[in-house]
Amino acid sequence: MLRTGKQYVDAIKCRADVYVGGERVKDVTTHPAFRNSVASVARLYDVTSDPKNRDRLSYVEAETGTRCNSIFLRPRSVDDLAARRRVHEAWGDETWGLLGRSPDHVAAFITGMACKPDVFDLHNQGFSRNITDYWRYIRDNDLYLAYAVVPPAGAKGSEAVATPQKKASTDSQWGENAGLRVVKEDDSGITVWGFKILATAAILADEVLVGNVLPLAPGEEKSAITFALPVDAPGLKLLSRRPYEKLALSELDDPLAYRYDETDAVVFCDNVKVPWERVFAHNHIDTARAIFYDTPSHTLGNAQAHIRLLSKLRLTLGIVRKIAEQNGIAQIPAVRDTIFGLGVRVAMVEALIVAQEARPQQWPDGYVSQDRQTMYATMSWTMEYYPEFVRIVRELLGSHPFQQPADVSVFDNPVTAHIFAKFSVGDSAQALERYKLMRIAWDLVGSEFASRHTQYEMFYAGPRHVTRGRSGYYFRWDVVDREAEKALARLGDYDRLVKNRARARG
Ligand SMILES: Cc1cc2nc3c(=O)[nH]c(=O)nc-3n(C[C@H](O)[C@H](O)[C@H](O)COP(=O)(O)OP(=O)(O)OC[C@H]3O[C@@H](n4cnc5c(N)ncnc54)[C@H](O)[C@@H]3O)c2cc1C
Repeated sequence: MLRTGKQYVDAIKCRADVYVGGERVKDVTTHPAFRNSVASVARLYDVTSDPKNRDRLSYVEAETGTRCNSIFLRPRSVDDLAARRRVHEAWGDETWGLLGRSPDHVAAFITGMACKPDVFDLHNQGFSRNITDYWRYIRDNDLYLAYAVVPPAGAKGSEAVATPQKKASTDSQWGENAGLRVVKEDDSGITVWGFKILATAAILADEVLVGNVLPLAPGEEKSAITFALPVDAPGLKLLSRRPYEKLALSELDDPLAYRYDETDAVVFCDNVKVPWERVFAHNHIDTARAIFYDTPSHTLGNAQAHIRLLSKLRLTLGIVRKIAEQNGIAQIPAVRDTIFGLGVRVAMVEALIVAQEARPQQWPDGYVSQDRQTMYATMSWTMEYYPEFVRIVRELLGSHPFQQPADVSVFDNPVTAHIFAKFSVGDSAQALERYKLMRIAWDLVGSEFASRHTQYEMFYAGPRHVTRGRSGYYFRWDVVDREAEKALARLGDYDRLVKNRARARG
């Protein structure tokens, strides 16, 4: 099934226990903090369900003979990876990459898990069937999933906070805290209590996946639980951060916050019952981790992150280039050099996305994913570089965003409209165009909405030491080691050295 935007909006109406501060939200689709973001997501479903895009963005599922969103395609070839990429691109371009957790992100994680279901049965718990059934369910209903897979402060166990030098806590210190854990188990399922961070877009989604993307330590088995539930499951509460959409003055004043505030929420499970068929990992710290990394899950899911980022980088570079032109500085050699430098980095992200697909990683049963060395290198580098990209763009902006009027009402008053037209060296229409440009620029790199985006790019896949760690793990060290050995071998062994030196001395 390919869901339309309207079907998506109808599905999430009046649900979920969502709180904004002390207010309980009645209907996220009409609430001033979320309604425009809901509309932006609905637009994505309209793009994929549009008959014009059918061949480009969907596939015929062999199991059912029906058309499904290509994001649910279990890839077996480079062509399949390209089919998946086209959805990431279409949705990324539609929202300029401002929805980090658009519906293709977590759906790709689940699809990756369904490529290797045997991992779910490491301890013969029968969860392999649960994950494949769940993949079929979200595929056939074209559902939107978010995830919360990180424990809150104080609940990160010794493995997650371990540094090479020192373990920050010992297993015995692992005791009561706010982290999510299993508190009851019976024939019909398990009951969980506690918190998980940070479910971006859960307020806009149909379902939430709760699990552990960071390693757990022995002793943390009660927290080694992975499951998925509808966001309106009884007892499940979503605690929203400050909503930028609600704070936006108007679309012209805060253009991106107004439409693309994807929301972030702390997830609280207040004795939530999870039926067994929705449990994917339980009681074993090795399976909690393996389902992400010993399946194509983490790789297929994060392909979306980079393709989406490219859309955002392209928009940002396009906007700052226009501003430089308007300000008459674009041809100054130093400015041109800076803008070209940004272009080099955008080109590198584009190339890395191509490289991820060009040499796919082979998985059992004929499945493939993007190459993991390139995937994790892209992840590490872009997460580290993004703040620098923003800093350079801000440097090019100078004080121009603050030379703009307080808000768009300036154009309602003929006197101020005239003054600003003069200031912009043009007419009111040109002054408005300049205002629009500056407001987009500021929402990309300067506003609170933009600042949250910088934080998102730095943390979407975990903190730096974790993402660097993954890059190191999947780097092909044998290649560099071989070169080092080759160079050493070319100089010869000790006997040869002694002989050669003796010969040289005559
Ligand atoms: C905007 C945004 C959206 C997010 N969306 C999601 C989402 O959709 N789903 C989800 O599950 N998570 C999401 N996250 C959470 C993200 O995965 C976490 O922020 C990340 O794992 C870091 O955890 P933390 O925020 O608790 O920081 P902490 O673990 O407290 O770390 C903070 C900092 O402390 C330092 N530090 C901590 N431990 C070590 C160590 N062992 N060695 C060296 N330095 C250390 C590092 O500088 C680190 O950056 C999101 C985060 C942000 C900012």
